[in-house]
Amino acid sequence: MAAPVQDAAAVRDRAPVRDAASASSAGPWSLRHLHLELLVSFAAAGAGRLRGQARLELRCERHGAGAELRLDAHPSLAVSRAALLPPPGGPGDAAGQALPVESRPFASYGSALHIALPQAPRAGQLLTLLIDYEAGEGPGVCWLSPEQTAGKQKPYMYTQGQAVLNRSFFPCFDTPSVKFTYSATVKVPEGFTAVMSATSWEKQKDNTFVFKMSQPIPSYLIALVVGDIVSADVGRGEGFRRAPELWELSRVWAEPCQIEAAKKEYDGVIEEFLVVGEKLFGPYVWGRYDILFMPPSFPFGGMENPCLTFVTPCLLAGDRSLVDVIIHEISHSWFGNLVTNATWGEFWLNEGFTMYAQRRISTEVYGLPYTCLEAATGRVLLRQHMDATGEDHPLNKLRVVIEPGVNPDDTYNETPYEKGYCFVSYLAHLVGNQSKFDAFLQAYVNRFKFQSITADDTLGFFLEYFPELKEKGVDSIPGFEFDRWLNTPGWPPYLPDLSPGQQLMRPADELAELWAADGLNMEAIEAVDITGWRTYQLVYFLDQILQKSPLPEGNVKRLSKMYPKISKAQNAELRLRWCQIVLKNNLEAEYSKVKDFLHSQGKQKYTLPVYRAMWGGSEATRALAMETFSATAPQLHVNVQNYVKKILGLGEAEA
Ligand SMILES: [Zn+2]
Repeated sequence: MAAPVQDAAAVRDRAPVRDAASASSAGPWSLRHLHLELLVSFAAAGAGRLRGQARLELRCERHGAGAELRLDAHPSLAVSRAALLPPPGGPGDAAGQALPVESRPFASYGSALHIALPQAPRAGQLLTLLIDYEAGEGPGVCWLSPEQTAGKQKPYMYTQGQAVLNRSFFPCFDTPSVKFTYSATVKVPEGFTAVMSATSWEKQKDNTFVFKMSQPIPSYLIALVVGDIVSADVGRGEGFRRAPELWELSRVWAEPCQIEAAKKEYDGVIEEFLVVGEKLFGPYVWGRYDILFMPPSFPFGGMENPCLTFVTPCLLAGDRSLVDVIIHEISHSWFGNLVTNATWGEFWLNEGFTMYAQRRISTEVYGLPYTCLEAATGRVLLRQHMDATGEDHPLNKLRVVIEPGVNPDDTYNETPYEKGYCFVSYLAHLVGNQSKFDAFLQAYVNRFKFQSITADDTLGFFLEYFPELKEKGVDSIPGFEFDRWLNTPGWPPYLPDLSPGQQLMRPADELAELWAADGLNMEAIEAVDITGWRTYQLVYFLDQILQKSPLPEGNVKRLSKMYPKISKAQNAELRLRWCQIVLKNNLEAEYSKVKDFLHSQGKQKYTLPVYRAMWGGSEATRALAMETFSATAPQLHVNVQNYVKKILGLGEAEA
């Protein structure tokens, strides 16, 4: 395990950036440590309760903080008491001095907790604040019924903090511009286990779990799961080349019915990615890297909670074919979790750098052609997004202006990921030498680790690191000005060369061509061996088939028989495309596969396109959509339910 940082405040060398999405008075204060004391109880039906106490250890950083402290909170969070604890060792009531506290409206996604202090603090003064509260069903606290889990026996709860949801989990400075360490004591009912995004986990008596995160992180990375979950060790694979004492063995966590599959899929593969990541970007500081497989209703692909990535069970493909998706979440260990965007308007600092890091690791492990092919699918997503919104849409800038009142989650789109990737690739192109740019990335992480930064910090450091480029004025080359990259919407002015991917695309293109022909040339088709094709080459092939669909009568049926590797795949990326092809070609014999896919998972990115394809198809596929939705709605996340209702014209879609 890496040595903890002594003081979160000491690593910050300037006041936090103003974040319009936070109601808090974070600026003049630093949060040195947060402790949560939680009691979790499930209800017979519907949402359970989380009763808790938050202890905030604050330090006043400058004069003028005033005698009022504001924290981010949410209407679903009921605060019963705020109190000021006496200084350690000093006189005073151990229960603390009660303080007037009032919740006031702030935005659709949160409220402001105003706490009146006895007097304005001096700079340097330490305060410990206690807040007693209860949380029910808030946007960041999700309660699942047994039927929304894989085992279907017991309820489940999980939290999702990004972007501004944790203010419904605990009162805090809910802004990525503030970092702090945390600890928690969580008591859960018999038969349940709690896990958190923490460097240490300990089970004590009375089903109480104790956690400690010894590195400073922003509030959105605090995460809790309570459910019928178990763990299994995975690690020490062939790729493992590191001294064993330097980090702890990775584990997978899942419901008991999924743990075997999870262990089989990820045994011995995680550490290879960590080893490559360390070689490229510097030490992995989080001690342990565990993966938690969420219940099927988890609507996201993954969430990079430190020490414990949350992922969709769709990553259990049965053949290790989606293992590389984990690389993205691992890359966040350096970009996002260690160096963090100070506001959600500069989300590209988290995601653009992570896409670049993911593709660097992928290049080292799988080679350049495969990585370029994967990047090409990303570029298609960016093209589709910009076509749908119009290139000039204000969200198609890297630096998004998030006005007060606008929920940062509503600005979420492909631009920070893929346009951000292009900008980082452009910086690498300016350097012109991969190992020099890799060295820069490592220096960048080292310079800004445990801090929250803006693009000005990033680009300023880039020019400082490469003075010869600064001298040449690379930040103001006409058409490629750094300012234009950040502040002008539209298609990236520079695209990295993905042509090495051509050597994998060409055979896929040719094969798709053969399958789209009127009279099938089976001899030519049989001559193409796809057994060695990895996920994204097959995905690319299926995307071509889908574009050419409907194919001449009978062709898809033969294709299905010819490639059970595709038509019977458990890999969700392949299943999604196969369902779309089945629907577009009215292959009624395989409608059951569409139904099975929608019953098996509820990830938004897979579920919505399948419903769109069904609703855009024949009478029969529309009936299939209605029937499947009425059977699966209770197991879907409420947001996904609402989006599907909108697609099926059932109304009630929420803003
Ligand atoms: Zn990401």
